[in-house]
Amino acid sequence: MQYVSTRGAAPRMGFEDVTLAGLASDGGLYVPESWPGFSRDEIAALKGLSYVDTAVAVMRPFVAGALTDEELKGLCETAYGRFSHAAVVPLKQLDHRQWVMELFHGPTLAFKDVALQLLGLLFERFLRDRDTHLTIVGATSGDTGSAAIDAVAGRAKIDIFMLHPKGRVSEVQRRQMTTVLAPNVHNIAIEGSFDDAQALVKAMFAHQSFATRYNIAAVNSINWARLMAQVVYYFYSAVRLGAPDRPVAFSVPTGNFGDVFAGYVASKMGLPVAKLIVATNVNDILHRALSAGDYSVGTVTPTAAPSMDIQVSSNFERLLFDMHGRDGAALAASMRGFEETKKLAIPAAMRGEVEGLFASTRVDADRMALAMRWGQDKAGELLDPHTAIGFAAAQDADLPADVPVVTLATAHPAKFGDAVERATGVRPTLPGRVGNLFEREERYATLPATMEAIEGFVADQVGADA
Ligand SMILES: *Cc1c(COP(=O)(O)O)cnc(C)c1O
Repeated sequence: MQYVSTRGAAPRMGFEDVTLAGLASDGGLYVPESWPGFSRDEIAALKGLSYVDTAVAVMRPFVAGALTDEELKGLCETAYGRFSHAAVVPLKQLDHRQWVMELFHGPTLAFKDVALQLLGLLFERFLRDRDTHLTIVGATSGDTGSAAIDAVAGRAKIDIFMLHPKGRVSEVQRRQMTTVLAPNVHNIAIEGSFDDAQALVKAMFAHQSFATRYNIAAVNSINWARLMAQVVYYFYSAVRLGAPDRPVAFSVPTGNFGDVFAGYVASKMGLPVAKLIVATNVNDILHRALSAGDYSVGTVTPTAAPSMDIQVSSNFERLLFDMHGRDGAALAASMRGFEETKKLAIPAAMRGEVEGLFASTRVDADRMALAMRWGQDKAGELLDPHTAIGFAAAQDADLPADVPVVTLATAHPAKFGDAVERATGVRPTLPGRVGNLFEREERYATLPATMEAIEGFVADQVGADA
C-alpha cells in the first residue's frame, strides 16, 4: 500500500515511512492511494472473530509491504492485551435501538488508547532495524498526552515531549501524564493556552533543520496509523449488530474529526454504514461545515467536554481531499485560502459527494446534561460529557426505525467526574487500574510559550539521554 499527501506535492510513501513521518512535507496529511474494498463475504467472514483477529483482517491491506500478518497480530495482542475488558471495546444496549461502544477500557481511560497503544509498538518495531532515535513532540488538551505517554514510556530510541497548557487540564488528566517518571518522558507545562502549545509544535515541525536533526515525529491524529487502528472497531461492532446484512449508524462525539473519519474509511471499504452522525458541542465548526458548507473559525468556548473544544479540525482536510475529487493541487489552493482568511466555503455540489452518509448535530450544555440523566435513570449507565453529546445526537437523529445506532463512548465517566456528578448526582469511581494517582510524585517543567525555550529544552534533554 502506498500513501499520498492531501496536498499533492510530497513524495508517495509506504506505511512504515508514513507512520514515522506524521505530517507530509508539503503540509498535507497522508491518505491511502486508494481505499481497499471488502466484499460482502469478506465482511460476513468477520463474524465471531476476536477483536485482535478482526484488527488483523481490517488493517492487513493498510500495512501491506511493511508487516506480515504474524507481526501485525503480535503487535495487536500486546496492545489490546493491556485493555481491562476481554472484549476490548464492549457494546452495551441502552434501549431498543441505542447502543454504546465503550472505547475507554485502555490504560488511560479514553478511546485514544485504542490507537496509541498500537502506535507506540509500531514506532518501536520500525525503529528496531534503523540506527535512528525518534523525538515525539505533541500538544495536548488532556487525553492525547496521557495516552501517548503511556504508549511510549520506557521504550528504547524514543523520547516524548508533551506540552500542556499550564493550569488548563483537569487534575486527573495532568497527573496521568506527570506521574509517569520514565526518563524518556518529558512533560512541559506551557505558560499559555492549548492553541499556543499547538502552534509551538507546528512551528517545530516547520523548523526544518531542527526537525531533521532531532527526527521529530507526531502522535496526534494527523498520524495515519492512528486512524487506521480506529477503523477496526466500526467493523467489529457493526458485524456484531448484523452487518453485512443490516446497516448500522454511528454517532461520534467529534473534535479533530479523526474518530469519525475512521468511520468514513470503514464505509469506503464496504461496511454498510447507514449514517455517521457528527456530534459537536457549541464549538460547532464541523456542524456548520457539513450542514451549511460554512467551514469558518470562531473562538473557542470552554465546555465540560474539553476534548471537543476545537476550532480547526485537522482531519477534516482528509475528507476535503475526497470532496475535491482527490485533486491535491486544488485542495492545496483551498487550504492556502483557509489559512489566510480562516474561512472556507464548501459548495453544495462538493458536499453532495458525502451528503447521504453524514449528518451533524450541535449539542449544548443543557441537552448534554439531559442525555447524562437519561443514561443514568433509564439505562443505569454513567456517560462522560463527550459520550453524552454523542448520545444526545443519536437520540435526536432521524433514521429508519430498524437501524441500530452505536454511540462511541470516548471516555470513562470518572475522567470527568465533576461534570458527571453535576448532571446526575452520582460520583463515578476511578477504576483500580489507574492506581494511586493522587499520591504519586509528579514531574514536569514549566516553560514560557516561546520557541527558544522549548527547543532549548528538547536539545538539552535529548542530548543528556544520548
Ligand atoms: C479526543 C477526544 C474526542 C474527539 O476525537 P477526535 O478524533 O478528535 O474527533 C472526543 N472525546 C474524547 C474523550 C476525546 O479524548
